[in-house]
Amino acid sequence: MIARTRIAPSPTGELHIGHMRTILYDYAFAKKYNGQFIVRIEDTDRNRFVEGAADRTLQIIKDYGFSWDEGPGIGGPYEPYVQTQRLEIYKKYALELIEKGGAYYCFCTPERLDQVRAEQQAQHLPKTCYDKHCRNLSKEEVEKNLKDGVPYVIRIKIPANETVVLHDAIHGDISFNTNDVDDMILLKSDGIPTYHLAAMVDDHLMKITHVLRGIDWMPSSPVHVLIYKFLGWDMPIIAHLPNLKEKGSAAKLSKRQGAVAAVDFLQEGYLVEALVNFLMFVGWNPGTEKEIYTLDEFINDFSLERIQKTDLVAFDRDKLLWFNGYYIRNLSDDVLFDKIKAWAKRFEIKLNFSGDDKIDIKVVALIKERLKKFSEVNDLISYFYSKPEVKKEMLISYTKSEERTKEILNNFYNTLEITQKENWTRDNLEKVCHDLITKYEYSPKEAFMTLRVALSGQTATPHIFDILEVLGREESLDRIKSAL
Ligand code: GLU
Repeated sequence: MIARTRIAPSPTGELHIGHMRTILYDYAFAKKYNGQFIVRIEDTDRNRFVEGAADRTLQIIKDYGFSWDEGPGIGGPYEPYVQTQRLEIYKKYALELIEKGGAYYCFCTPERLDQVRAEQQAQHLPKTCYDKHCRNLSKEEVEKNLKDGVPYVIRIKIPANETVVLHDAIHGDISFNTNDVDDMILLKSDGIPTYHLAAMVDDHLMKITHVLRGIDWMPSSPVHVLIYKFLGWDMPIIAHLPNLKEKGSAAKLSKRQGAVAAVDFLQEGYLVEALVNFLMFVGWNPGTEKEIYTLDEFINDFSLERIQKTDLVAFDRDKLLWFNGYYIRNLSDDVLFDKIKAWAKRFEIKLNFSGDDKIDIKVVALIKERLKKFSEVNDLISYFYSKPEVKKEMLISYTKSEERTKEILNNFYNTLEITQKENWTRDNLEKVCHDLITKYEYSPKEAFMTLRVALSGQTATPHIFDILEVLGREESLDRIKSAL
């Protein structure tokens, strides 16, 4: 089998992370079956069109490491790949549908449609729909209206009381009764098609074999099945993927919980490798314990059979942090430092490094263990470069006594003061400090935590000897004195 898949983003805003998950699945499926992954811009919703969004969408797809075999910028055998450049094609098929009895002209004014809707609402109907008024116009009436230039839309002619079956590759056969289906608009009065017509025509003409799309499209499926049937085309395989929700709730992703757009995750400082690995599991799993996947391994293991058969799948932000921490720890210190700098440059973030690469890379090495995303870097490194604010309650909390805290800090001060610059190495500092606590019989916890807070203003930091080494003799002594 050769698979041709496509992603068809609408430039109505920034690309959602859920779309990126779908792109990953589309891409993997096409590559697994030696086919092509196609990008098509569905810019037919002119009311929600956002200037520049299409270019930003294409850029973010590249930023996540995906490339397309056909689509904007590179063209292909079925170009153009932007729907507003294909209007003549849709018109042709809308007219063909009319000819074949699958669609009709509708000349209803917006005022009439509002009135119909209001009447249906007043009757408390479960949902409002077009009252099929123009289905019954005579041929002559239609011709006259067209001749008089009366504005029109083209609607699908849904047959009454029939069962339409969608063969969904994930959910199995799903039956719909056509009495529940509206005569949806296929071509609007400005000549621009709706999704229902444009996507079906393009998927057919572009020889798409598998359509992976969000499950929110499932209710419109009977319209799509009928369009294919009326035009006498074979339908591609349709697979409805679960949409994303915040973990622990039924709500869709929310900005209040964190990033939602694909670009926002990059801005927060997630690595692409971590994001892509995480997204693999948003709706799919291999049925094994394996969690760390390269893209090639995923392509090999991915199958539609193992996609979750649910409407919504949890987007576990903690798990994403875990993946990111994993990929961060797997980078060498130098590469991590370069990536942090590149990230800051791209998103115009001022980093609080010293500018001395040797020291800065050392600091990066020290925070690497704790770093979960780059937006935390400044917080994690700040006390290396500027004197921290030390809270008294925190400082004395490990001894529970001001006197004992002072005694411990004084002893550290005196011991470190006689440690000369040339002996100011991590190993020697560790030895000197351990000797001190043995001599005075301090518990390591009370002594080192007190010193840690004095040096950093924090209770969780890398090893205290590393901090002493990086801060240097003068600065370390100075901070202990300030704390005292
Ligand atoms: N333009 C549609 C969207 O962005 C595409 C849906 C589909 O994949 O068919 O939701």
